[in-house]
Amino acid sequence: MGSQEVSTADWQGKHVTVAGLGVSGIPAARALHERGALVTVVNDGDDERARAQAAELEALGITVRLGDGATLPPSTELVVTAPGWQPDKPLFLAAAEAGVDIWGDVELAWRLRGTNGREAAPWLAVTGTNGKTTTVRMLASILEAAGLRTAAVGNIGVSLLDAVLGETEYDVLAVELSSYQLHWAPSLRAHSAAVLNLAPDHLDWHGSMEAYAADKGRVYEGNTVACVYNAADPATEELVREADVEEGCRAIGFTLCAPGPSQLGVVDGILVDRAFVKNRQKQAQELAEVSDVNMPAPHNIANALAAAALARAFGVEPAAVRDGLRNFRPDAHRIEHVADIDGVAYVDDSKATNTHATEASLAAYDSIVWIAGGLAKGATFDELVTGAAKRLRGVVLMGADRALIHEALTRHAPEVPVVDLDRTDTGAMSEAVEHAARLARPGDTVLLAPACASMDMFTNYIKRGEAFADAVRARAEESA
Ligand code: ADP
Repeated sequence: MGSQEVSTADWQGKHVTVAGLGVSGIPAARALHERGALVTVVNDGDDERARAQAAELEALGITVRLGDGATLPPSTELVVTAPGWQPDKPLFLAAAEAGVDIWGDVELAWRLRGTNGREAAPWLAVTGTNGKTTTVRMLASILEAAGLRTAAVGNIGVSLLDAVLGETEYDVLAVELSSYQLHWAPSLRAHSAAVLNLAPDHLDWHGSMEAYAADKGRVYEGNTVACVYNAADPATEELVREADVEEGCRAIGFTLCAPGPSQLGVVDGILVDRAFVKNRQKQAQELAEVSDVNMPAPHNIANALAAAALARAFGVEPAAVRDGLRNFRPDAHRIEHVADIDGVAYVDDSKATNTHATEASLAAYDSIVWIAGGLAKGATFDELVTGAAKRLRGVVLMGADRALIHEALTRHAPEVPVVDLDRTDTGAMSEAVEHAARLARPGDTVLLAPACASMDMFTNYIKRGEAFADAVRARAEESA
């Protein structure tokens, strides 16, 4: 922390600079202003939307500076930033130089919790490269089944600040945290936390894999009951070892195999707990059946075990784990079954925007026609293709970086037929589905799992998934 440690008890007259108008900046500016801080919002953009937002804040008495997010206002005592802002921005360098603290939206929410006259609810936190949203939703569903007042919040699209300062009272929060948010959250101390997995992602932002892992690892700092790690991903266990936790806090592993002591795992199609039982050397507690997990693909079972571990760390009974998993419905575009046509299943995993996610997705099916391509974000595809080669009936490629995937296929799976669509327009998706249908045989799965970002062709992964589902449904109607 910098030298000008800010007291949260007294915001009166404190000069706070909020970096970035937007989903986190606007509520932050309002909350600080309401507490008597002298808030200046700085924002790079100066478009119509920014001006409208600025006008609303200015009407409250908040200063807004549009078109210059780089210069630090001279009297700043604290910077509160939107999580995505690149850490080497001149504004942050100037703040560091001046010994001014920089907090993200999560840090601010953490510091302000309990200041609205309500008891501060403990946080069960989830991070990782893939599976965060799914796990946090599973966790919230389990906590609800246990009769607890809870919500899935954070990077999931629900502002933590709103949850912490809003009218609703919570017993516990299920919190999704991104690596960006953790970077800017130095004093966060969760009740328990899980790192689901670690694969290279967002390295341009963090600077290196080490820095990315270190930011993810912050989620374990100061945990009081459990640090949940993935036994199949030693890097996550390493982060637990490096963390400075409260006395008595335990390392709890999850595994798709039979669990050892202090682990949750799978035995004969049953999710079992060998961590939160009286005699973990000899006993295991049945939690749920694998078939209770909605889409029991291996990576989703792992997500379910991580969610169960956090819930059990919070004292939730086994029956609530089972009920919560049964009640859980996955979000759209995450291994979403769209239709069966002529014995072929069509599955939308548009959210598989990197190779690690796509690897999990491809591992869930035996015979696949794979639709992939888009913006590769610097990824390589050799490992992905090698792992999946035996299960590929065919591949349809589209998007800006499709040649990278095509080259990997030529190297490692030359016998697999590939249709290379020389298109990056939105309409390419229905042509892709047509080709995929031609390649597929009854019993196959046509899987959209692009391993790439979508922005070369679509507004976002949601639009990409919708284009796929529309094309599939149009086909289903034709064949009906
Ligand atoms: P996140 O919030 O971390 O982006 P999601 O739950 O939204 O994660 O899932 C994103 C994609 O990642 C899914 O569509 C799926 O392909 C993949 N995925 C989900 N869970 C895992 C996991 N545990 N390991 C690897 N990939 C996963």
